[in-house]
Amino acid sequence: MRKTIIVIAAVAAALVPPVSAHAATKATVVSPERPLNVRAGAAVWSASLRTLPHGSAVDIDCQVKGQRIDAGPVRVTDQWDRLTDGTYVSDAWVRRAPGVQVPACAQATAPPAAPATPATAGAVASGAIPLKTRSGPARTAQLLSSLGDGTPLSIVCQERGESIAGAVRSTDMWDRLASGVYVSDAYVRREATPPACTAAAAPVPAAPGAEAGRWVSPLPGFTARPGFRTPTNPNHVGVDLMSFVGTPIHAAAAGTVVEVVCNIEAGHSCDQPGGASIGGCGWYVKLQHAGGISTLYCHMVRRGVVRPGQKVAAGQVIGYVGSSGNSSAPHLHYEVHVNTPPTSPGNAIDPLPFMRAHGAPIG
Ligand SMILES: [Zn+2]
Repeated sequence: MRKTIIVIAAVAAALVPPVSAHAATKATVVSPERPLNVRAGAAVWSASLRTLPHGSAVDIDCQVKGQRIDAGPVRVTDQWDRLTDGTYVSDAWVRRAPGVQVPACAQATAPPAAPATPATAGAVASGAIPLKTRSGPARTAQLLSSLGDGTPLSIVCQERGESIAGAVRSTDMWDRLASGVYVSDAYVRREATPPACTAAAAPVPAAPGAEAGRWVSPLPGFTARPGFRTPTNPNHVGVDLMSFVGTPIHAAAAGTVVEVVCNIEAGHSCDQPGGASIGGCGWYVKLQHAGGISTLYCHMVRRGVVRPGQKVAAGQVIGYVGSSGNSSAPHLHYEVHVNTPPTSPGNAIDPLPFMRAHGAPIG
């Protein structure tokens, strides 16, 4: 019953202003320090599709349970607001009139109505240089991932943006893909012209991290202690999995090796056990995954067995557990960063809920 109403609304949206099954809830963005990310799903690792400055008015359709956000100025909550265009913002950063409740997104509306028109098939035609996917229709928009020449594309619609002279055509049109990301149409070969992006073709929220593929535990059989940014150790931006020297460490997801580095205080070696008083992550490997996610594996017993630029599969062995650097016992220190590159302490997130949400709980 509910589903029928939604389909009619999606078709009608092409003709008249968007129609909703219930009135949208008016609210205001509270984010005085930096613009609020509007995302494709209900977690910070979902692609950021645009930003909204402090004080922006938003129209909320309904709420879903997602990643718990502790850092918002309005409330601590795991509720995310689905806006009327199908995108999400954390309810921790949104103020409504007192007493106003937002309805839960009904089962029938999740995922929301599919675009009124079927996707247009295409393929990347960018030659040797991979085509970049971005959060918006311009090269200034956030870089999310890269697609190799010949990658099949499912184009939902087109939007006008930055003009690009590419291998296929010179155009200011950008293609919005089914995952909600954008690529310049200048590097896309296709047989039909996709429809213009309208409210009816709002991006379909992707499952958190869907772009990054399958996730696995970096240290199967071992569990992590909660330890991300604790009150006594606020600079600890990962979790520790206690283990034994020589235990294989696995890539948590498919990706590209970006760093294989010895990081240690001057005068010390990564090739011997470190100590609690010695600074540094020891031998570590950093991987870049799709969707702007990076993972870091510290304190390896010796140099990782991969090299920068190498592609790795989920579960591939990248090194072995040790105690190099700032470590008093053999363990894997594991970090997850979002909106990368680059990685920084500021974009590290707690790996425990992240891995749980990706079907690979580690503790
Ligand atoms: Zn650690």
